[in-house]
Amino acid sequence: MATPPAKLASTPVSRRTTVTYVTALLLIAALSISSHLLTNTIIQRQSATAGTVNMAGRQRMLAQRIFRISLQMADGSEDFVQARVELINAITQMERERDNLLHGSVSPRILPPATPRLQTIYFDGQDSLEHLGDQFLDHAKHFAATRHEGVSLGNEDLNAIGFLLQQKLLPALEMAVTAYQADSEEAIQRLNHTMLLLLCFMLLLLLTEALFIYQPLFHRLKVSYDALITAARTDPLTGSLNRRAFLEECAKIFQRFRRTGSPIAMLALDLDHFKSINDTWGHATGDRVILEFVGATLSCLRPHDRMGRLGGEEFSILLPNTHPETALELAESIRSTVASLPITAETGEELHFSVSIGIAASLPGDGDIFAVLARADRNLYIAKEQGRNRTAMA
Ligand code: GH3
Ligand code: MG
Ligand code: MG
Repeated sequence: MATPPAKLASTPVSRRTTVTYVTALLLIAALSISSHLLTNTIIQRQSATAGTVNMAGRQRMLAQRIFRISLQMADGSEDFVQARVELINAITQMERERDNLLHGSVSPRILPPATPRLQTIYFDGQDSLEHLGDQFLDHAKHFAATRHEGVSLGNEDLNAIGFLLQQKLLPALEMAVTAYQADSEEAIQRLNHTMLLLLCFMLLLLLTEALFIYQPLFHRLKVSYDALITAARTDPLTGSLNRRAFLEECAKIFQRFRRTGSPIAMLALDLDHFKSINDTWGHATGDRVILEFVGATLSCLRPHDRMGRLGGEEFSILLPNTHPETALELAESIRSTVASLPITAETGEELHFSVSIGIAASLPGDGDIFAVLARADRNLYIAKEQGRNRTAMA
């Protein structure tokens, strides 16, 4: 029986590969989104830190303004009524903004004191920011409500305002800012570490994907592609080049012949009375005859010679860089090898068969390979006419 046609590689992209690939892609997408969200959190955290530091700075500025206006009211350097209006405005503003600093706000974005360290500075005991602020504002309000006659540089509230500002409130605000910045830096550092971890994981995932998905996938694709190309170029029964591939090869070699002038020769081969072999011994034996014929012919050829099955029991051989005499010698050796080849039929009987061969050499005037092929075919016809099992080169 004839050898079955070469099996094509199974589909290169299996369901499992697709699922693994999509899962890896989804993981990378999730990691990218997480990394984006983390970056966003870091930016927001930094902007909240800046907002809080700014708010603490404004508290310091307002407290200083309250003290300065109170002093001006006491030493009479400014109009008393006008200064009192300014003092009340500054007190109102400080009270309003203090609330944001102590409890956080959305706009402007200020984070509430969340860590134990900040909680202590803000709310714990006599020296807490909240308590000192209350005291400072109480004295300021009391001073603002004092009548003109009662206001002097020796006023108790004025002294308390000055003392609280210099000795308590400003250092407490400073401490809060420092603690807030330190907490914020720690938090940002933690976020940065997480981001680095995500990045490493993502790179690892990409590397794993490249090694275990892409590389095997590309390999399988290449194997499948090669198998398809081979199948598209090969005659499935004999493994010889099929008509299209053979003619492509011939066209290439013919171009080289035109460039270099190196001679080429062509053989046209046709098995003799092949129909009667089929009829006598059966189609399967006919197939075996074709296979044995190809094997025997190839054993006579040189590595750079090309053999193609043009159809049925007709073959062609291109002999690059070959003078007509050598082509004739080769054709003769093929003919005699084939003629002496015994084939055992399925019945166990021995049969012999023969081949007729037309030979043609390239001529300087040939426009393409088909001109040479046509001459080889004409000579094959002559060989058949002359009685078969012979070579002809007119
Ligand atoms: P001639 O000497 O004039 O060439 O005679 P022939 O009988 O060889 O020529 P013909 O063209 O009449 O017959 C060729 C036969 O080859 C006909 C076809 O059924 C048979 N054939 C073509 N391809 C195959 C094949 O792959 N296997 C087998 N077993 N037979 C094939
Ligand atoms: Mg024939
Ligand atoms: Mg034929």
